[in-house]
Amino acid sequence: MSNPENILVCDGLVKIFKTEEVEVMALQGLDLQIKKGELVAIIGKSGSGKSTLLNMIGGLERPTAGRIYVDGKDLFAMTEAQLVSYRQNTVGFVWQNSAQNLFPYLNALQNVEAPLYFKKMSEKARREKAMELLKRTGIDHKAMSYPTQLSGGEQQRVAIAVALAMDPKILLADEPTGAVDSKTSDMIQDLFRKLNEELGLTIIIVTHDISLANKVSRVIMVSDGKISTEKIMKEDYRKKLDELSTENLKEMDSHEEYSVLDKARRVQLSEEVLKEAGIDSHMVRVEVVDGKIIISK
Ligand code: ADP
Ligand code: MG
Repeated sequence: MSNPENILVCDGLVKIFKTEEVEVMALQGLDLQIKKGELVAIIGKSGSGKSTLLNMIGGLERPTAGRIYVDGKDLFAMTEAQLVSYRQNTVGFVWQNSAQNLFPYLNALQNVEAPLYFKKMSEKARREKAMELLKRTGIDHKAMSYPTQLSGGEQQRVAIAVALAMDPKILLADEPTGAVDSKTSDMIQDLFRKLNEELGLTIIIVTHDISLANKVSRVIMVSDGKISTEKIMKEDYRKKLDELSTENLKEMDSHEEYSVLDKARRVQLSEEVLKEAGIDSHMVRVEVVDGKIIISK
């Protein structure tokens, strides 16, 4: 929280869902810092807690324990009215299912205009702003079309324009390319990158789409409700990103992987790593050799 560059800080987030029979610990003390203007992908197996985390950042879900700071402000210490305003003005949401993003009985332009009714704006200004957003997301030529008349990818472009309508500081997207084919997915990915670069918008995308993750400079892996590893894009790859086509990029070694050390100095090792090292017991030997920590049987 002390670093003013951080637009978002998650501090020890815990979420326990209680149903009649069982308790599920969806987040298990998750820490995360995101700088202003970052484009981050969150990946992880189904059920690892990704949506829970995103909904919490969006102010839709309260943590059982832990805090979220946005621009240094403690999100869940806000009053209910402040939280409503936060959801309306500070964050924009794009969901996987475009039906969840759009009103079916409004055309594309009207969908983008809808959130703008919360602002004091003339009808003309509202219409202009909505058109400008549709242009930015490359779908202005379908402004008068209704959601059912648009393809999945086109619907997502409209949905992104809707999410941008209130000039959010953070754009959150939960599996935005989960329901479209890979070509459409590529176009949507490029749109997110463009918005990030042109507007300096902070964007957090939950995805299981590896090709999307490959194009993002920071990839966060969530496992069992915690962040286990982070991948940071290599500098030479970043430079090539604009020159090469997506096809060529898929084959390249894009990121450097780091394990995350939490506040209690814990590191989570993946099953793959343990297997490769032939470690199958629950006890390991830890020693420091030449400034390196060696973990062995
Ligand atoms: P992901 O998005 O990574 O697939 P989720 O955040 O949706 O994972 O879910 C994490 C865990 O929390 C899962 O075990 C899921 O079943 C559980 N969970 C999520 N939401 C609820 C809820 N509203 N009630 C009960 N359990 C939930
Ligand atoms: Mg999910």
